[in-house]
Amino acid sequence: MFSKGSKLYSIFKMRCPKCHETPLFENKNHYKYDKFFAMPKTCPRCGQRFELEPAFYYGAMYVSYGVSVAWMISVFVAMLVLYPSFNVNEYLFVAIGSIIVLAPVIFKLCRAIYINFFVKYDPRAIEDFQEANN
Ligand SMILES: [Zn+2]
Repeated sequence: MFSKGSKLYSIFKMRCPKCHETPLFENKNHYKYDKFFAMPKTCPRCGQRFELEPAFYYGAMYVSYGVSVAWMISVFVAMLVLYPSFNVNEYLFVAIGSIIVLAPVIFKLCRAIYINFFVKYDPRAIEDFQEANN
């Protein structure tokens, strides 16, 4: 399921969606804000462009909305199971607090999900790119 070649591998490892080798982000630490948004322009191994068109990642905001709503529902269900006597204020504190703490992870994850909508894994991508450049 998470093996190389699957979309989930590329998304959760935040790797190039075409060759699954190089990281999508220059800074791999989600909580280190130096070069937080920085992504290479192209993959150095397979040549895949990471910004497919100008302002490409605006679409990732819609993915982020969906992921955040799914997270809020998951927190609600988890609290129903683990702590059934909670009130609305406790739920909002836990749900919004966890969204704020996880925001950098969600941001990068949603960019990885969004580019994986448009780019397919190609096991021959690296060889084809090297042949084309020699
Ligand atoms: Zn690549």
